[in-house]
Amino acid sequence: MPSVIPPNNVPENSTEIVIIGSGLAGLAAGQLLREAGHNALILDKGRRAGGRMSTRRADGFLFNHGAQFVTARSAAFSAVCARAVQAGQLAKWPLAGREDAFSGTPAMRGLAEFMAEGLTIRQQADVKNITRLKPIPGPYSGPLKLQLADGTVITCRHLIVTCPAPQTSRLLSEAAPELSACADPVIYSPCWAVMAGFPAPIDLPRTLIQTPEGPISWATYEPLRPGASQTAAVTLQATANFSKTHLEAEPADICDQLLADFAEQQNISLPHPSYSAAHRWRYAKVEQACPQDELFHISDTDSSIFVAGDWHPAQGDDGRFGKGTRAEDAFLSGLRAAKQLNAQLA
Ligand SMILES: Cc1cc2nc3c(=O)[nH]c(=O)nc-3n(C[C@H](O)[C@H](O)[C@H](O)COP(=O)(O)OP(=O)(O)OC[C@H]3O[C@@H](n4cnc5c(N)ncnc54)[C@H](O)[C@@H]3O)c2cc1C
Repeated sequence: MPSVIPPNNVPENSTEIVIIGSGLAGLAAGQLLREAGHNALILDKGRRAGGRMSTRRADGFLFNHGAQFVTARSAAFSAVCARAVQAGQLAKWPLAGREDAFSGTPAMRGLAEFMAEGLTIRQQADVKNITRLKPIPGPYSGPLKLQLADGTVITCRHLIVTCPAPQTSRLLSEAAPELSACADPVIYSPCWAVMAGFPAPIDLPRTLIQTPEGPISWATYEPLRPGASQTAAVTLQATANFSKTHLEAEPADICDQLLADFAEQQNISLPHPSYSAAHRWRYAKVEQACPQDELFHISDTDSSIFVAGDWHPAQGDDGRFGKGTRAEDAFLSGLRAAKQLNAQLA
């Protein structure tokens, strides 16, 4: 089990290493550091670990409204996925149309929960501001001071920031303007996701839909996932174009429109859902990642700051850089930051 620290109960306000973000990048970094004998404190503003690897349970339904599946090409991510399969949190999912696709069983967040084992994580910890505690000569020296939304102040010497690029840029504008600037050119597309639960199973002519033209880019009938119950839950994800055009629309209108489009695509008449909700991912998928050779850390003898996340893809063991579009890119990026920090601490 991860050691989850409840809000407002930080045992120590000073720690050696802080990681901001309990998505795949932050968890990968946390695990590598833990295996190397370092205990990092992970802070995340969300309620549960996983970031965009997310699952919602509501009214007896289960929806995976973030990443739909993961693919593993690198040895490191393949090894984690294999261990998660053994632990029963992940399973091969050929329905996704790719041989190397894995689904949660049935929760995608299960992979994050598996990776969070043994880590110290404080959820609902919203970092608002990062500064140097005592600016001393040398551009990168001095402990870092993190100000949280609830007023808590945490100081640390080493920091790994794994938020999406726009949030990373804002957080590091004062403490590390060079890293903040790396994040600026990164472009994300948004994504509207609709979750609808129905009182009885639905007979769908097509099991799973992927239509790049939109408005729906992806639809999952959740009972088709490994380990899923038969409760009739449908998750719809809109295309980037639709999501950009309707970014500020009302969630209820998005639900109505995407459910109508889904019924039309399937050529069925849908019953009225007993549960429906829309979630807007403002930073869903990377459209333009950071250049490969871009800076990912600034370090001095006693202090360092790293950035990681899908937007800053690292090299896999096959020598290739990802495009930032897959969860594995986030994982490898977190691993790169932690390896570098571990080497510095040796
Ligand atoms: C709708 C959708 C569908 C997708 N489909 C797929 C797919 O099928 N396959 C695939 O491989 N990838 C998919 N992805 C992409 C994949 O989910 C991401 O690439 C990956 O999960 C990113 O991980 P990360 O750790 O870089 O960032 P995140 O998961 O975003 O984690 C960052 C964390 O930082 C936290 N945070 C942000 N700001 C602060 C702050 N100020 N203080 C504290 N915490 C903060 C956030 O709460 C979050 O938990 C999809 C993404 C979306 C949104």
